[in-house]
Amino acid sequence: MSGYFCELYSGTKSLFVGLGITFRYMLKPVVTLQYPHESLPMSARFRGHIELIGDEETGAPKCVVCGMCQKGCPSNCISLAGEKPEGGKGKVLTSYILDFTKCSLCGQCVESCKFGAIRFSKDYNLAGPRKEAYIFDLLKRLEEKGR
Ligand code: SF4
Ligand code: SF4
Repeated sequence: MSGYFCELYSGTKSLFVGLGITFRYMLKPVVTLQYPHESLPMSARFRGHIELIGDEETGAPKCVVCGMCQKGCPSNCISLAGEKPEGGKGKVLTSYILDFTKCSLCGQCVESCKFGAIRFSKDYNLAGPRKEAYIFDLLKRLEEKGR
């Protein structure tokens, strides 16, 4: 009989301890997010894949096709191309492909760009079934962002 009361006591005690913890956390601010509908703001130093920066007014890429980022990349992740428009002064970027499967996020490309034309994105929601999903057309991405 005494065993029955001991079990009843310990069961009731743990029930109230559990309820106490539940009520305490109910009154605290929510620290979880409704992922994937909500995303965490990334810190300023977070490094996602690189992305092109567009001109504030025109939205056109700031890239002048100097090729320094491509040369500076130790993993050969970047391939870009540009063309000189007729009568124009400099080159216009026509393609900027990043093979993110090889990127080590070392930052050489961002450092080599003297025109402030690339930066690390805050994109951390990356998922894809195949390797090809990580080969990014950064020019297309910039255009889509501007729309
Ligand atoms: S972060 Fe480094 S590895 Fe990645 S593209 Fe830039 S230079 Fe290449
Ligand atoms: S270093 Fe900058 S300006 Fe030069 S090609 Fe790369 S992104 Fe464009």
